[in-house]
Amino acid sequence: MKRKSATRAATELVRAQAARSENREHAEALFLTSSFVFDSAEQAAAQFAAPAAEYVYSRFSNPNLKTLAARVAVLEETPAALCTASGMSAILSAVLGICRAGDRVLCGGEVFGATAQLLSNVISKFGVRVQYVFGGEDAWREALKENAALCILETPSNPMLSILDIAEIAALAHDKNALLAVDNCFCPWAQKPHALGADLVIHSATKYLDGQGRVLGGAIAGAEELLHEKIYPVLRCAGPALSPFSAWTISRGMETLPLRIKAHCESAAALAEWLQTAPQLEKVLYAGLPSHPRHALAMQQQNNMGGGIISLQIKGGRDEAWRFINAFKLFSITANFGDAKSTAAHPATTTHSRLTPEHRAACNIGENLVRLSIGLEDLEDIREDLARALAALD
Ligand SMILES: *Cc1c(COP(=O)(O)O)cnc(C)c1O
Repeated sequence: MKRKSATRAATELVRAQAARSENREHAEALFLTSSFVFDSAEQAAAQFAAPAAEYVYSRFSNPNLKTLAARVAVLEETPAALCTASGMSAILSAVLGICRAGDRVLCGGEVFGATAQLLSNVISKFGVRVQYVFGGEDAWREALKENAALCILETPSNPMLSILDIAEIAALAHDKNALLAVDNCFCPWAQKPHALGADLVIHSATKYLDGQGRVLGGAIAGAEELLHEKIYPVLRCAGPALSPFSAWTISRGMETLPLRIKAHCESAAALAEWLQTAPQLEKVLYAGLPSHPRHALAMQQQNNMGGGIISLQIKGGRDEAWRFINAFKLFSITANFGDAKSTAAHPATTTHSRLTPEHRAACNIGENLVRLSIGLEDLEDIREDLARALAALD
């Protein structure tokens, strides 16, 4: 990183980039190279022996990954960050780095479907005991009566938009010497889990950080020592390395993150308010609405921003939910969110379809649930498309 002046975070997200080459390029250069050359055998040996090698091989490090990691650290107000190939490999690497056989991992019951799959079907094969915590802080207090190595939670959760008190759960976890990892996928920029006590902040950079649905990526932010002693060794030898091209692409996305988040949140807040009047809906789930049971906590934790995702419980079941989704002309039917384009998904049959029916029921993910990611199109065009979908239910 070239500039070291104490600029503010939004400036840093626009300006952070690798040192300029002798070609004086303005935008950061793309370092599509699998390895780096040395002047001598001695230099190669010294670099391989160094605990945190500079540039040796792109599985270990790469200039484009280094600038993306620096941007994520700025975003999350953490001393350091690491990049991974996807959000899932960020979660995998964090668990592999921290836990050993016999350890107990507590995971919020309301998490991304693949997170539960990873813990239940893969991690648990290696003797790590996984327990899901359904409910709020009281359920976490109960679960933390017994020691745990790692706690993982999402707030707002995918797709129910439930809110958990990060500071309170961090204190409960730290009482038992457990680390807390918060998946901050739904609320980047607005919410700073590390400042609230989380040890690790995990991202699927695929979502808002890229912001245009182009590439997969992930990141883990936290204290330098924790990342470099526990998690970097996993990345270095296991190889869930992010491609330099994807890192470069996500870094470009992050230049506009603060502006995009503000726009996503403003449109979502206006639409959530309006959707509450729709007679075809049973309930509008959105933490920015005063009707949300944890509205006050969400506003405090999320810097007064409700986020860009709204979930709807439609009157009826799967037929009605699918009819609603199929009526869209603007919204894309796709699993991704955090995109400039508005998207819609039916979690029970897509993103959360592989959960056990019991797990899905415990999260209240019903057949009538539709998850909307509000994009950056003109607000009135999005509203018209929603009105069209609602009319299909009449
Ligand atoms: C998408 C998502 C992930 C997984 O990220 P990928 O980049 O798709 O691997 C993890 N957590 C949450 C909350 C997500 O929405």
